[in-house]
Amino acid sequence: MKIFNSYTNALETFVPHRAGIVTMYVCGPTVYNYIHIGNARPVVFFDTARRYFEYLGYSVKYASNFTDVDDQIIEKAREINENELQVAEFYINAFLNDVTSLGSKTDYIQPRVTQYMSQIIDYIAELIRLDYAYVVQGDVYFRVNKIAEYGQLSNRRIDDLISGSRVEINPLKESPLDFTLWKKTSGGISWESPFSTGRPGWHTECVAMIDDIFGEEIDIHGGGTDLMFPHHENEIAQSIASHAHPVARYWMHNGRLNLDGEKMSKSLGNFIMVKDLNKDLRGFRMFLLSTHYRSPINYSEEALDVYIKEWNRIEKTVQTLFHKLDLSDSFQLDVLVEDTALLRIVADFEEAMNQDFNTPNALTAMNQLLKVTNNYLRSSQDAYLLNQNLVIFVRLLSVLGLSIDLQKLSDEDKALFRNWEDARKNKDFAQADIYRQELVKKELL
Ligand SMILES: [Zn+2]
Repeated sequence: MKIFNSYTNALETFVPHRAGIVTMYVCGPTVYNYIHIGNARPVVFFDTARRYFEYLGYSVKYASNFTDVDDQIIEKAREINENELQVAEFYINAFLNDVTSLGSKTDYIQPRVTQYMSQIIDYIAELIRLDYAYVVQGDVYFRVNKIAEYGQLSNRRIDDLISGSRVEINPLKESPLDFTLWKKTSGGISWESPFSTGRPGWHTECVAMIDDIFGEEIDIHGGGTDLMFPHHENEIAQSIASHAHPVARYWMHNGRLNLDGEKMSKSLGNFIMVKDLNKDLRGFRMFLLSTHYRSPINYSEEALDVYIKEWNRIEKTVQTLFHKLDLSDSFQLDVLVEDTALLRIVADFEEAMNQDFNTPNALTAMNQLLKVTNNYLRSSQDAYLLNQNLVIFVRLLSVLGLSIDLQKLSDEDKALFRNWEDARKNKDFAQADIYRQELVKKELL
């Protein structure tokens, strides 16, 4: 399969470092607030990528962190008169609730900065020992000038960055581009270190946690485009200094989500929290996947409604298919799929996903599957074919993180279905309509 690697700026064939295993890290949230719908994009996309690797048979080791030390968390804690760890704990739980309602898996490695402090301090000490970092009055800075590759990910040149940087107000740094690995602090939560009492810098946290969890260059590092510079560039610089590799072999970045054509901004007040979306979140997931992950996506209520309707059609069709099989007690999940029309759709779906996770094209294949299914539902009584159809539908939906709760029919509901069918067979349309309305009322049709 092909993946667009932001580091080399090219579409590359994906070959994992170790056969059969994919290692992935995605920068997670700073937990001082609920997440907005723009933050949902990496949560949905990278989960879909993970699911697709699993579908292909890879074992995926996936980690995404919680930044639970940050000035904003300290500020929030002061505001509401709690300690920083309580604030972080609250928003970590809120985040995981949102992740679940977005249909993404939560069974991944979730390192928290506060639980990795000794590894982070050791990592910084090592960079100092290697002469890539220096201590000034208790602060530790990274020597960007020593990294020839600096700027490669975000396509920036060191000279341009220096001439373009704002007047440096920190005279302690050797160069304006040098970034903070450790900051001496006097207020808020802090840790003892050989450098000073203070807190680590964000860029070091991710790279030190990756180092500890994976212990080697990982396959994929993901995050939003907005993290490319300086966060990811700085992760790469530190990793080149400590391990002579740029953290990951493939860097993947998702594009931004705009709200009604404008950048979402908390300060401007134009943003929507995931928890406040108040819509079918599977429809929202489909909406997010309807645009290729690297392109920007524009959210509007109208655009979302299109996909909510689309999702409802899919859900209804799959339920109908399942009920048809359940009614004849012929439902079977371990069935060999050999129907050519279905296999053709699977091939189209895989071809789309193999092209740098082209989810819009994968959704086109799902639309085709919907048509085929409705056709089979109308024309076929063949339980084997309908089972193949159901298996494929559920399997491909699950790659996209769109799950349907297949509800078995109660005896009473089965009887209702049979009565409806009998009435239609006997051309008793008035009675048939009464049964039909009952089924609709029970949301079975
Ligand atoms: Zn990060």
